[in-house]
Amino acid sequence: VKYVFGPVLSRRLGISLGLDLIPFKTCTLDCIYCECGRTTKKTTERKPYIKASHILDEVKQVLVKAEKLDYITLGGSGEPTLNSEIGTLINEIKKISDIPVAVLTNGTLLHLKEVRKDLQHADLVIPSLDAVSPEVFKKIDRPAKGLDPGTIIDGLIQFRKEYKGKIWLEVFFVKGVNDSDEAVDGLIKTIRTIRPDKVQLNTIDRPPAEPTAMSEDIEGLRLIYERFRDNDIHAEIIKPFEIKDAPALADQKDVKRSVISLIKRRPETIRHISLFLGLQVPFVNKILRELEQEKKIKRIILKGETFYKA
Ligand code: SF4
Repeated sequence: VKYVFGPVLSRRLGISLGLDLIPFKTCTLDCIYCECGRTTKKTTERKPYIKASHILDEVKQVLVKAEKLDYITLGGSGEPTLNSEIGTLINEIKKISDIPVAVLTNGTLLHLKEVRKDLQHADLVIPSLDAVSPEVFKKIDRPAKGLDPGTIIDGLIQFRKEYKGKIWLEVFFVKGVNDSDEAVDGLIKTIRTIRPDKVQLNTIDRPPAEPTAMSEDIEGLRLIYERFRDNDIHAEIIKPFEIKDAPALADQKDVKRSVISLIKRRPETIRHISLFLGLQVPFVNKILRELEQEKKIKRIILKGETFYKA
């Protein structure tokens, strides 16, 4: 399978089957914190980058074998709403399964009526919004030409009015870039008008596209969280995983494939790989050493921690 990955254990979505709707790093943004690296194709052009029917064929194959799934998640290493067949894909998945469908989007195309319509039948949409001022937006998200925060915010407000499912809005903080009092106040004011069901406050915990991008420290995130809470916004901090007994999710017949499929999209530590796939750490260690010898993966060091990337 090419477009389906997992199931993996996701911090926010439990056991999730991921679908890639666009070629690697095709995106409307080039966020400095992106865990998948620099955007190689920055565009706002919607088209059937990957046909919905091809993805659906793979989903059918995988669903036959999959045991318990909490979500089927449309995302991947780029912006999924760029795929103009996303609406067809959601509708077709809903015909063959009862598993809730989630969409991870950067929200930049929600000002388009057809995109809002395409997402109508998803159960959960997780859009992101990192800045409300054009200067900060440009600095953190490095948008494609023609995108500005005003239009994106209008799109989010309109989407909230039309969409019946749940919206969890994600804000990604980079230290010294979008965490000033002014930037946070602007976000709070705007998010109160968007009215998502919940706001998720996140920061860097894997090697970012720009090595100079720094993660927000936990104390900084806690203060931001308190300001959201004091303004009656239901917010939460996305914490790193601390799960003791992860379910066995790796394909036991082909563990190497499961590991590569996981770290192809973004770098992970041994501990995370073991958690996401439900494998023992020493076993993951052995697999990673073999893959390194086969030159299929490489190491990246961030803040003294070792990450692996295919
Ligand atoms: S973080 Fe998401 S929106 Fe930003 S560049 Fe990466 S894939 Fe695109």
